[in-house]
Amino acid sequence: MELTVLGGGIAGISAAYHARKMGVKATVYEARERWGGLLDHFMVGDFRFDYAVHFAFADDPELLRILKQTEHFVHSPEAYNYERGRWLKHPVQNNLYPLPAGEKVAAIKSFIERPEQKEVSNYCDWLIQQYGQVIAERFPMTYTRKYWTVPAEQLSTDWIGCRLYRPSLDEVLFGAMTDETPNTYYIKEMLYPRKGGFRTFLEPLAGDLDIRTGKEAVRINPEKKFVEFAGGERAYYDHLASSLPLPELIPMIDGSPPPVKNAAAMLWATSVGLVSLGFNRPAVTPYLWFYVYDEGMLPSRVYSPSLKSPDNAPGNCSSIQLEIYFSRKAPLQKSEAEIIEHALSLVERWGFAARDEVVAADFRVLPYGNVVFDLGMLERRRVVTGYLKSIGILPIGRFGEWDYLWSNQCFASGKKVEVLLAGT
Ligand SMILES: Cc1cc2nc3c(=O)[nH]c(=O)nc-3n(C[C@H](O)[C@H](O)[C@H](O)COP(=O)(O)OP(=O)(O)OC[C@H]3O[C@@H](n4cnc5c(N)ncnc54)[C@H](O)[C@@H]3O)c2cc1C
Repeated sequence: MELTVLGGGIAGISAAYHARKMGVKATVYEARERWGGLLDHFMVGDFRFDYAVHFAFADDPELLRILKQTEHFVHSPEAYNYERGRWLKHPVQNNLYPLPAGEKVAAIKSFIERPEQKEVSNYCDWLIQQYGQVIAERFPMTYTRKYWTVPAEQLSTDWIGCRLYRPSLDEVLFGAMTDETPNTYYIKEMLYPRKGGFRTFLEPLAGDLDIRTGKEAVRINPEKKFVEFAGGERAYYDHLASSLPLPELIPMIDGSPPPVKNAAAMLWATSVGLVSLGFNRPAVTPYLWFYVYDEGMLPSRVYSPSLKSPDNAPGNCSSIQLEIYFSRKAPLQKSEAEIIEHALSLVERWGFAARDEVVAADFRVLPYGNVVFDLGMLERRRVVTGYLKSIGILPIGRFGEWDYLWSNQCFASGKKVEVLLAGT
């Protein structure tokens, strides 16, 4: 009895790890030449960049034990927001202090007058109900157009969970009068390896698991139970778990019915354009990470890899990475050279560095960033995952479960193979 796993990100590795713990042989097939998926990194000269901001946090004692085997820093999640030339502490609704008095009054009045609880039919309704029209429109609705690439009216609320802070009137008033506000971020401690980038955390998990890289699955036959890889090689399976994105997985399954294919084709995710910059001097920014609201500025979020760990940059140097979100609904319409030029102009505008201090510059794209919870997505996802269950494929991970999962939740998702394998 053997488990075959598609995708060598944390979900796939966790699946193989948990199978191994049950005494079941497991093989992971990964398309790229390195395992790690979104938790991997790349080098630009001597600068190391993760694929977008990544910190580790976990409640699961087993995952915590694994993470803590790696020497790490513990960061306090002190994020900032940049809007119209001002830096506001995060979350903005609790930290209106830097705004001019008249704007604060308008925001607070609208918070007090926010509509009573009524049926919420989309994310826009939810935002107005939580924060009032003025705060909702100025901050999260603007950010939504950048980060989710569609207006808030087109999104459901199924993904919110603890991600957005809902302040009391006292908290809003307090944060409008002083900048000495408490940190209300939903995570209290964020871990990051001292050396080697985020992927180092996964090394104890991957251990000596059988992870075969350079194996891109292109076809699955659920009746004869084989996976075919680019080049024609086949692997026959007893049990199959897949962390591949559902819109790519379904078309590769022999005999997948048209309604399932249609539902999968209508699932969509944002992509992330990463501009990675290295500087020839230390600490170009004091901000570990910050959100950018101005719609004329392409990035939604910016963070500093060298503040996560100095090991991410050569001695006396520093780095930042800008995340630009786009999608099939809002394609990226600039060339790589234009995007890097835009990033350099922002670095100057934010007062971080001069152009001649930039010694490394890179642009690349993550095709799958965040799965989008547009209206009707849950039903389309149900059709697809129901079909996978009917043919004995276990979907795992962020793009297999098609959910807004953090890495710790993908670890838990991979653990679901325990149910699949129970009794084998
Ligand atoms: C911008 C951004 C910021 C984030 N920040 C955080 C954070 O701070 N903390 C946190 O915990 N989480 C964060 N996350 C979430 C985290 O990155 C993911 O939850 C997690 O890495 C997903 O793991 P996975 O194994 O499900 O998917 P992936 O990491 O995407 O792994 C899937 C693997 O499948 C492989 N694959 C694809 N197609 C094929 C094929 N045909 N054949 C074989 N292999 C294939 C891919 O190459 C990939 O390696 C962030 C995510 C994003 C996008």
